[in-house]
Amino acid sequence: MSRIPLDPRTAPPFQAAAKALLGDAQLRKNVRHATDVIQNKRRKLVEEKQDWQLLRESARQIRAHALQHLDVYLDEFERNFTRAGGTVHWARDAAEAQRIVVGLVKESGSSEVIKIKSMTTEEVQLNNALEAAGIHAYETDLAELIIQLGEDQPSHIVVPALHKNRAQIREIFRRTMNLPDLGDKPADLADAARRFLREKFLRVKTAVSGANFLIAETGGICIVESEGNGRMCLTLPDTLISVVGIEKVIPRWQDLEPLIQLLPRSATGERMNPYNSLWSGVHPGDGPRAMHVVLLDNGRTNVLADSEGRETLQCIRCAACQNACPVYRQTGGHAYGSVYAGPIGAILTPQLMHMEHSQTLPYASSLCGACYEVCPVKINIPEVLIHLRNKVVEQNGWYTPESLAMKAVAAAFRSERRFRAAQRLGRIAESPLVKSEKQKFSIVGQKQTGNTGWIGWLPGLLGGWTDTRDLQAMPEETFRDWWEKRGKA
Ligand code: SF4
Repeated sequence: MSRIPLDPRTAPPFQAAAKALLGDAQLRKNVRHATDVIQNKRRKLVEEKQDWQLLRESARQIRAHALQHLDVYLDEFERNFTRAGGTVHWARDAAEAQRIVVGLVKESGSSEVIKIKSMTTEEVQLNNALEAAGIHAYETDLAELIIQLGEDQPSHIVVPALHKNRAQIREIFRRTMNLPDLGDKPADLADAARRFLREKFLRVKTAVSGANFLIAETGGICIVESEGNGRMCLTLPDTLISVVGIEKVIPRWQDLEPLIQLLPRSATGERMNPYNSLWSGVHPGDGPRAMHVVLLDNGRTNVLADSEGRETLQCIRCAACQNACPVYRQTGGHAYGSVYAGPIGAILTPQLMHMEHSQTLPYASSLCGACYEVCPVKINIPEVLIHLRNKVVEQNGWYTPESLAMKAVAAAFRSERRFRAAQRLGRIAESPLVKSEKQKFSIVGQKQTGNTGWIGWLPGLLGGWTDTRDLQAMPEETFRDWWEKRGKA
C-alpha cells in the first residue's frame, strides 16, 4: 500500500519518493511485467496499421485546432448539450468542481454514487469531498475497485492497479469481500468483482463519470472502456454527472474517427474498445432523467496561454508514454506524487499547479524521447520538459549553487584563455582525489602515465556524480595541446 500522497502540494520531491520506491522489488517487477505486456500488444497492432503516422498527424491537427479555438467549441458544445436536455456547469478549480458535484448529488436525493474511472475526478479529489459530505462513492472499474478496497493510490492512467499482481489482488478481495475460498485465476477475481458490483449498479441511482471526448457539433459525450461497467453507470442511474476537463472538446463527430483508432491501440493494445458509449442530453424512457456536465478548468487556461507548454493539453490519456518511459518503469507511478504519473504527469502536473509545486517532475526523465515516439497525438514531451526545466531555473532565481556553477562553466567556455586556465586549475584540484590503482582500469596493451586514473569520491554537491560511479580524471595532455604539437612536428 502506498503511503505517498498523490497531492502535488504535499507529496515529497520526485527524487526522494523514487529512492524509497526503488527498494520495493515486488512493485518494480509488477510494473515492468505489466508495461512489457501492454507494450508488446501495442507494437503488434501499430505494425499492422499502414497509415499509423497519418493517423497520428491527423489526430495532432484535430487536437491542436480544437485547443486554438477552445472558446468557440466549448460554447458550441454547451449550446447543443443544453438543447438536448442536459445542464452544463463551469468549474474554475477543484474546490468549485467539488462543490458543484456534491450539491448535485444531494439534489438527486442520494447518499451514494457509482463511479466510472475518471482522471478528472481523481485530480479534484472528488471522493474525499463526497465522503466529507456523507456521500459514499463506489468505484466500478476493476482496477479502481482494487485501489479503493486496498486503500491504495492509483499508479497508472489506464491501469491504476498495475503495480499489484494477481496474488495481491486476491488477498484484497478475500479480505474486503469476505471470500475465504476465492481462487486466484483472472476469471475468479473478475467474478468476485462482478458479484460485488452488480448489487451497486442496481441499487444506486446517481452516477459520476469523466469523459474521453466532448463533441461540439452534437453536444455529445464519449467514453471508451473495456469492462462494461461504464455502460452500466451511464444507462442505469436516474442522474448522471460527468466531470470533464475543458481541453477534451473536439469539433466534429467525424474527428472521432482517427482518435478512436489511436486510443485503444495506444492504451491497452486493443483494436477497438469493447464499449464505446456516446450520449447527449436526456430522452424520455431511456437512460438517466437528469444529465449534468461539469466543465473543469483547474489550471488548464494557464497551460493554454503558454505557447510552448500548450501542446500538453492535446493528450488523450492513453498512457503509452508511461509504458515506454524507462524512469516510470523503474519507479512506478506513486513517485510522481500526482494522479498523473509518467512523462505526461511530468509535464502536466507542474503546469496545472502553476509550477509552485512539483518542481522536481520536469527532471524525472532521461530525455530519451521514447515518450514522443509512442505518443498518438505527437506531443513533443522532451521539448516541453526542457521548457519546464527553464521555468524552474527562472523561478528559483539565478543564485542557486547549480546555476552559479553553470554560469562559471559558461564563462569558461566562452574564452579559449579562460578554458585553458580552467583545465590547468582542474588538473591541480583533482590530483589529491585521483585513485592510484592505475593498472586496474588500464586497457590491455596501452600504457598509462602520470595521474591518468579515476576519481571515486567528490565532495559536497559534486558527490552526486561519484555516489554510484567513478569519474575519469582529466588527461595530462589535452586535445588542443596534442593538435598544436602535431602541427609543429
Ligand atoms: S502524452 Fe501522449 S502518450 Fe502520453 S498519455 Fe498523453 S496522449 Fe498518451
